[in-house]
Amino acid sequence: MMLQKVELKPKRLADYGPIVGDEVIAGIHALARPLQGARVVHVNATAYGGGVAEMLYTLVPLMRDAGLEVEWQVIEGTDEFFNVTKACHNGLQGMDIPFTAEMKAIWQRYNELNATKFEGKYDFVVIHDPQPAGLLRYHSGNGHWVWRCHIDTSHPTPAYWDFFAPYITDYEATIFTMEQYVGPGVDTERLSIITPTIDPLSPKNAPMAKGKAREIVAGFGLDVSRPLITQVSRFDPWKDPLGVIDAYRIVKARVPEAQLALVGSMASDDPEGWYYLDKTSRHAGADFDIHILHNFHGVGALEVGAFQTVSDVVIQKSTREGFGLVVTEALWKGKPVVGGNVGGIPLQVVDGKTGFLVNSAEECGEKTLYLLQHPQESAHMGANAREHVRQNFLTTRHLADYLRLFKKLGG
Ligand code: UDP
Repeated sequence: MMLQKVELKPKRLADYGPIVGDEVIAGIHALARPLQGARVVHVNATAYGGGVAEMLYTLVPLMRDAGLEVEWQVIEGTDEFFNVTKACHNGLQGMDIPFTAEMKAIWQRYNELNATKFEGKYDFVVIHDPQPAGLLRYHSGNGHWVWRCHIDTSHPTPAYWDFFAPYITDYEATIFTMEQYVGPGVDTERLSIITPTIDPLSPKNAPMAKGKAREIVAGFGLDVSRPLITQVSRFDPWKDPLGVIDAYRIVKARVPEAQLALVGSMASDDPEGWYYLDKTSRHAGADFDIHILHNFHGVGALEVGAFQTVSDVVIQKSTREGFGLVVTEALWKGKPVVGGNVGGIPLQVVDGKTGFLVNSAEECGEKTLYLLQHPQESAHMGANAREHVRQNFLTTRHLADYLRLFKKLGG
């Protein structure tokens, strides 16, 4: 039995020329020239939900279009494994939770199992996040192995870091999202920093007519003639959906017609999400201007894009964040974002220019109210927002970063 391979439709680099400029595309082809036919595999824990899957959907086909042979494989696991990996995710981000011998054994057992199912010969293997980080140890594969960390491991709970650090040391190279996320003792010689990016041509981010977007949002029972505030994110304590509701209530006291949409997908590797969804619904109580929606209501990529397009203000009130791709997506749609001053959000939300950085629900409520009451300023910030993303956070930049790394490792 082999690991599941994710099937992907082709994408063409040339289609991105009109957005990023033809010289950027020519630069990518130049970088890819010495890597023609190189065999690459990306391995992660889920084919949908969350930022990692989102990026691979675009990067893998574009890397193929640049002339490399690229696959994407997903590891297998049951709830028993994913409960442990969820704890690892939280523990590595500093949550004070136990890491028992049994949990370690479960993680190791599933990594060993997945390693036996991992087949094929590759020049470059990119392992994403802690879930499959043990694959290299148990597979002892050839090729260049890279571990890409999408989370903040700068202040990990020691029991978790002590366990994972030796697995990470096995890798020839590591990639972190930002300097300040790098875990204690990670070899800086073998480290690359690559921020995530979005695909400007994906169904979620491609231009959508306002009328169509309104129709989609209205289809979920919202009144598109009234002000709309949205947060799109998993139902997770770090994303602070309860804080978003508190912020909305501050706005609601002054703008009674305001509505809030909390839109979040339920990922297959996130059992805690269901618990937190319930908690969020209870916090919302009987206020039916708070719309809590997820993929089981039929909210997919297109619908997320529609919400971002129709919203007057987008919030991302995280208290911890990897990078915050949803912020990038909203900025790209010309929306100012009121975001928590954490993780990758301050790289994207330039305070007072592309949105506002906030540190509390009160501040979040006040800034959201300000934007609703100053539409011209809000539109101006929205225009800045889109340009900021075009220059820094589109998928073509990401592809070039990978090609540079492969060249460095293989050349
Ligand atoms: N997302 C989605 N549907 C939802 C909620 C989220 O498609 O209902 C997407 C979202 O648009 C973004 C990704 O999932 O592309 C979340 O990435 P982010 O970096 O913001 O957070 P993560 O979930 O990786 O912590």
